[in-house]
Amino acid sequence: MSRQPFRAFVSLFPDVRFILSAAQASQFPADRGTEVAFAGRSNAGKSSAINAIVQRNGLARVSRTPGRTRLLNFFEVGAGRRIVDLPGYGFAAAPEAERRTWAPMIDALRKRRALQGLILIVDSRRGVGPEDENLIAWARDPDARADGEPMKVHVLLSKSDKLTRNEGFKALKAAKGVLGETVSAQLFSAQDKVGIDEAQRVLLDWFAAGETGGQ
Ligand code: GDP
Repeated sequence: MSRQPFRAFVSLFPDVRFILSAAQASQFPADRGTEVAFAGRSNAGKSSAINAIVQRNGLARVSRTPGRTRLLNFFEVGAGRRIVDLPGYGFAAAPEAERRTWAPMIDALRKRRALQGLILIVDSRRGVGPEDENLIAWARDPDARADGEPMKVHVLLSKSDKLTRNEGFKALKAAKGVLGETVSAQLFSAQDKVGIDEAQRVLLDWFAAGETGGQ
C-alpha cells in the first residue's frame, strides 16, 4: 500500500484554452472578467512557469510559434479568467516601427479594468535587472490605471533548482531588498516543482479579488 496520503486530484484550472494573439489593442478580448499578465526576459522560464502553474504542458508553447513571439497571447484559465502572456524582453533594442505598435498595445493593456496584476519571471541566478525594474515601474504607475491604484506585482525567482538552499535564500533576500515592501517575491522551479502552490495561490487570489471588486 502506498504510504503517500491520499489526495484527490482536483485541477485548479480545469478549463484552459488559448484564446487569441493580439498585434494591437483593438484585437484584445472584451475588457470584462479578470486577467493576470505574465512577463519576463526571454529565456527566464516564463513558458515553463505558466505551464506548471496552470498544469498544462505545452500550453504556453503557443506563444512561441513563429509569428506569435512578438504578440500578446491570451489564454482562458477558467470562466472569465485570463492569462496574458507578454513577449519576452531583453533582446537588442526593438526596431522603431515595432516599438510604435508595441508601446500603445502594452499601455492599453495596463489600462484594462480586467487586469489584476503582473507575475514577473526573473531568473534566480541573474536577479532583478534594470529591465525588470522598468517593467515594475510601468506596472506600478497608478496614474495609468483605470482605478488609480498601482497594479499588483509578484516576482517568481525561477530555476531555483540551479541554486543551493543557501544561494536560494540569498537570492530571495537580495530580490526583496530591490523590490521593497510593495512587490512580493518567491523562489520557483518548474522543473523541481518548487513554489507552484504559492504561485497558484497568488493567481487565484488576484482573480477572486477582481471578481468581488464589482466587476
Ligand atoms: P521563456 O523564454 O521565458 O518562456 O523560458 P522557457 O520556459 O522556454 O525556458 C527557457 C529555458 O530554461 C529552457 O531551456 C527551459 O528548459 C529552462 N527552464 C525553464 N524552467 C526551468 C526550471 O525550473 N529549472 C531549470 N533548470 N531550467 C528551466
